[in-house]
Amino acid sequence: MAELSLQHLDKIYDNNVQAVFDFNMDVKDGELIVLVGPSGCGKSTTLRMVAGLEDISRGHLFLNGRDITKTPAKDRDMAMVFQNYALYGHMTIYENMAFSLTLRKEDKNVIHKKVMAAAEILDLTNQLNKKPNQLSGGQRQRVAMGRSIVRNPSVFLFDEPLSNLDAKLRGATRREILLLHKRLGATMLYVTHDQTEALTLADRIVCMSMGHVQQIGTPMELYDTPNNTFVAGFIGLPPMNFYPVTVKDGELAGQGFSVPLTEAERDTLSDYANKEIILGVRPEDMTEGGTLPVDVVTNENLGMNTLVHGYIAGQHGLNITAKLRGWKDYRNGDGVKLQFTRKHFFDKDTTNAIRKGAK
Ligand code: ADP
Repeated sequence: MAELSLQHLDKIYDNNVQAVFDFNMDVKDGELIVLVGPSGCGKSTTLRMVAGLEDISRGHLFLNGRDITKTPAKDRDMAMVFQNYALYGHMTIYENMAFSLTLRKEDKNVIHKKVMAAAEILDLTNQLNKKPNQLSGGQRQRVAMGRSIVRNPSVFLFDEPLSNLDAKLRGATRREILLLHKRLGATMLYVTHDQTEALTLADRIVCMSMGHVQQIGTPMELYDTPNNTFVAGFIGLPPMNFYPVTVKDGELAGQGFSVPLTEAERDTLSDYANKEIILGVRPEDMTEGGTLPVDVVTNENLGMNTLVHGYIAGQHGLNITAKLRGWKDYRNGDGVKLQFTRKHFFDKDTTNAIRKGAK
């Protein structure tokens, strides 16, 4: 059982760079939390503060109610899986997995049991006598996880564990981590810059930008109701399209185009009459057959869907990407009329989402 509470965590490095600002979160036992954001946003720093590899400048960290803010890393009962899964080349897989237990001089029989159990979970039973260079990248990553599992830590910490793997292996290993989490039921914190990993793995996502938490919620919450334009643009692929528009009676007026508003949308925007806001539309929330003329630049067939890239007719600055269902064959210079099936609205000044009833 492992509940974590991160309370008002700040990290200020020696060079006075503040990497993390007021990080607050309660992690429930068995939750898989993914910290996501662009490079440099403070995800690894946060993870390393939890691991005890970086001092916490301000704030407190609790594990099962116990204040571990100043507890040394080795006494925190956590295991970290790194991007560089440095295995010992001269040791067998078995010896690599047993290494930390051997160091602690655990009983040989106990070590054997633990290694065999971890190998079973990770499907490495037939690889135990091999050396790391005889294994594939994905298998080596599993060995690195095995080294953590044998220690039976209360919290697993993952720092971009898949970034060294090629795309296909990344998908497969991601699913293995998901299964591993289900089997172990352990509390896990996982850092990645990849929004797909965040959406597919997380029980809850923490989306960060420039040291600040932008939103904490389930993948569905971040995708469906992003707090601000940052989260809206970061979660979802291809990213959401954004346009400055003015709220008019029954429609949104943009530069050289307008789109109709539904009754419910008018209601949501009732405080913004004649004001400029930011309209956000996901590529997958567009269909053919509307009133918005778009000039096509490129057409990318993905099989089940087609990505149509272009710009709003006559407005070269207003790029648009639509993800249309099925196989389309638009060509450069073609025109297509689109409609938006779902719209997101953001305050122009704060960039925060405009939501009904939220004042
Ligand atoms: P991320 O994991 O999101 O890529 P990091 O947590 O590694 O981001 O870094 C956050 C910020 O802190 C960055 O601006 C980075 O340059 C800075 N930083 C990271 N490590 C150190 C360090 N040891 N000393 C000074 N600044 C650092």
